[in-house]
Parts: sequence; structure tokens; C-alpha cells
Amino acid sequence: MTDAATLYIDGKWTGAADGATFDVLDPSTDVAFGAASAGGAADARAALDAANAAFPAWSRTTAYERSEILVRAHRLLGERAEELAQLMTREQGKPIRMARAEVKYAGDFLLWFAEEAKRVYGMTIPSARADQRFTVLRQPVGVVAAITPWNYPISMITRKVAPAIAAGCTTVLKPAEQTPLCAVAVFEILHEAGLPAGVANLVTAEDPAPVSDVWLNSHEVRKLTFTGSTEVGMMLASRAAASMKRVSMELGGHAPFLIFDDADIEHAAKGAALVRFLNTGQACICPNRIYVQRPHVEAFTEAFTARAAKLKVGAGTTDGVTIGPLIDGAAMAKMQRQVDDAVAKGARVTTGGTAVRPDGLTGQNFFAPTVLADVTPDMLIYREETFGPIAAIVGFDDEADAIAMANDTRYGLASYVYTNDLKRSIRVTEALRFGMIGLNDINPTSAAAPFGGVGESGTGREGGSTGIDEYLDIKLIGTAL
Ligand code: NAD
Repeated sequence: MTDAATLYIDGKWTGAADGATFDVLDPSTDVAFGAASAGGAADARAALDAANAAFPAWSRTTAYERSEILVRAHRLLGERAEELAQLMTREQGKPIRMARAEVKYAGDFLLWFAEEAKRVYGMTIPSARADQRFTVLRQPVGVVAAITPWNYPISMITRKVAPAIAAGCTTVLKPAEQTPLCAVAVFEILHEAGLPAGVANLVTAEDPAPVSDVWLNSHEVRKLTFTGSTEVGMMLASRAAASMKRVSMELGGHAPFLIFDDADIEHAAKGAALVRFLNTGQACICPNRIYVQRPHVEAFTEAFTARAAKLKVGAGTTDGVTIGPLIDGAAMAKMQRQVDDAVAKGARVTTGGTAVRPDGLTGQNFFAPTVLADVTPDMLIYREETFGPIAAIVGFDDEADAIAMANDTRYGLASYVYTNDLKRSIRVTEALRFGMIGLNDINPTSAAAPFGGVGESGTGREGGSTGIDEYLDIKLIGTAL
């Protein structure tokens, strides 16, 4: 790859057809540290042609051949883990320890799907007719278009590309405009791992629409897999319906975190703080509403605030930093808007509440870890995804109350329950309308487990034993003897 030749099409690195490029910024300084090709419609078309041409041969490779490539990619990613983590922190801003954890998580998908490739079993079904046999095959859907976000810029790519490769699909992928270089690093690994030309193609772009337009308008793309905001996901899914593409949508969340009076309040405060401020609050599974049973609200707020106040804000590469920069100025403005709105409607700020300037940094994207107490349903933060380091605490009286309030959202991705009462844990987890629940646990995620949401948090599951199904069609053969 030469500088700003960041499109990977048909096995070759190239620049945009019109030569356009765009700057890649370090969010902790707002200074450009690299450049990427600004792919457009012509590049999207070239990538699609390559994926389309590669599909017939690729879909006929054996699962063992595909698996071997993924195993090699996993090894290469492991060898480059530190380099990738440093790049991710630079481009996306997350503290280096979290970047290292994400690289490991990204690698897990390569290995998981290398194994799953070999388990794409079919079925035989008894027929009511003695002279008939039913056989079911699972076959690759065809060309897959993938669109990924900036907040987990490497793992959100492997979580899509690895199952597509394993299933025998070919792919065209557009990463977020904020993090094109992480995507380039992943595709360099796939190339070196021996992935044949055209099987996975990368189009970096500053403006996503011309690229996605080509893919959405094409009948050749049979599947759209998207991770990003609910707003964009719903728009893309409705357009994908015009040519009846299959869709997987991993969208936004507004996770409730329920802490019952029988829970260990200190333990809950620790867990809630870790996951609320995960990735500087920029994770789709971050809790947006922390519900605490009365009369423990004050004790919890105090313990939680003490933890939030101790977090260290700064550049992700600095030792001990736990809160990096937000991705951009728009995210900063959203934080202040949510805080100001909540305060105007009666919330108390127990720590933070404003932008900060950590020592020596020119960047303007640092927001203090913030805790809002006395949050009520009329506040913006109660319904709008925050995607930043602000915690909202709400009191509740009883179990029925807690369940009703937790479910009072159009989202349905992650949720959390802290209780030591076995029967209550069963009642509550069964009643919550969310795709994932952490029960006394803050990390219900793994390459081996199904990740995804219900409601406006999306459809489809990534990872787990069903993750590969998203890339396979079912074919029935009824045979007369
Ligand atoms: P986003 O929707 O703005 O962008 C996501 C991707 O969509 C990017 O590649 C972007 O370029 C592209 N995009 C934006 N507008 C488009 C358009 N008009 N046409 C085609 N493509 C377009 O989201 P984001 O800010 O990058 O990511 C944050 C969101 O992602 C949050 O809502 C978060 O909850 C969600 N997310 C969900 C999961 C999950 O697995 N459910 C994981 C990570 C992030």
C-alpha cells in the first residue's frame, strides 16, 4: 500500500478513480496524521465487479481452504497486535489497553469462524412419501456489502468479514470515514494471509452515500451487513428491501442497568462504572440509564461518583489514561446538550459536566466523566443514546417498576441486572426485552456468543454458532426416487 492508496480492489492497492483523498485525524489533537483515498461511485462499482467475478470460484473452495486462510490471518494479526493497537489509539482515540483488548477480540472472530467454516452442516428430512428424499444444503448468499463504524474499528470488520469468508461469500466493505487506516491494516493482513483477489474488497470513503448507493442499487449484492446508528441502519435497511437483500443490522442501544436492593452496591458501582465509561462511553452496550432501588440511590451515587471522579482523562497513549478523546466536535456538542438539558430539568451533576483540556493537549474533544443524579424520563438523556462519558442515575421502588422503566425504550441491545436473589434474576431476565443481558456481569460478549439486538437495535446476530447463518442461504432439494 502506498500513501493514500487505501482502496483494496481485486487484490491490489489503489487510489480513488478521481484521485481524491481525505485527511485522517488524531482525535486527541485534531491534527491529521495520515490520509486515505476518498472512494466514490466508480470505485464502489469496481469493487463490486471484483467481488462478483470472484464469487463463483470462491464459493466452490472447500471449507478447509477457507479456514486455513482465516487461521493465517489470525496468526498475522496476533504478530502485529501491538502495532494495530497503537494505530487504533491514534486514529480512534481509545486508551491503549482497550485498543489491545479490541485487537484480541478482533482476532477471536477470525479463529472462531475458521472453525465454524467446517461446521456448515446440511440436513436430511424424512418425507411422507416413500419415494421421496429431502436434503437441505446451506450455501453462501453471494456478494455481501458491509458498512462498519469507527468505535470498534477493527473488530467490527473481522466480525463481518470472517464469517463471510468462512461461508464462501465475497465482500465489499466500507469502513467509517473516521477510521479508514484500521481497515487498511485488516485488509493488509487478509492479503498476506493469501485471500484470493476479489474475495474481500475495501473502499475507504469520506462521503459514504455514493459508495453505498452503488451497492444498495445493485441486485448483485445479496446481503447488507451494517453496524452503526439506528437512524442510518433503518434508512439503509429500507433501501435494501427494494431488491430484497438480506440484512443484518447491529444498531444503537440505550441500555438499562438495574441494581436491586439485594445486590452488593459497591460491586454494582464498580461494574456500572467500568461499562459506562468503556471506550470513553462510545460503545453500543454502554448503560444509558442506571436504575437503583430505593433506598440505596444515594449510597450508590456516592460510590459511583467516586469511581468516575478518579478516571484519568487524556491521550489514549498516555499511561494510566482511562478516558480518551471523543471522536469529534459533534460528539462534544451532544454531551453538553444532554447535560444542559438534564440540569435545566432538575438533574444534579455530582462530578464532571463540562469539556476539559488535559495537560499539554491541543485537542478539543475531551469531556469530563460525568454523573447525573435525579434523572427523569422527560430529559433528553433518558431516551437519546449518549455515546460518551455521561452516566444517568434514576431511582425505582419495586421490581415491576424497574422492568417497566427498563423496557420503556425503542432500543433493545444490551441490558444489565445486579441482584443476588435467584428467583428475581430469572423473573427479570425473562421480562427484559433486550438481545443481551449481563446478570451480575458487565461483559456479555465473546466471539463464541451471539451478539445483537431486538427492536430498533437491529436484527441478526454476529458471532456465536448462528453468526455464520447470516451469510448462508438454505436450499431444499426434494428428490423423487
Ligand atoms: P453511523 O451510523 O453514523 O455510521 C456507521 C457507518 O455508516 C459508517 O461507515 C458511516 O460512514 C456509514 N454511513 C453514515 N451515513 C451513511 C449514509 N447516509 N449512507 C451510507 N452509509 C452511511 O454510526 P457511527 O457514529 O459510526 O457509530 C456509532 C453507532 O454505531 C452508535 O449508534 C452505536 O450504538 C452503533 N454501534 C452498534 C454496534 C452493535 O453491534 N449493535 C456496535 C458498534 C456501534
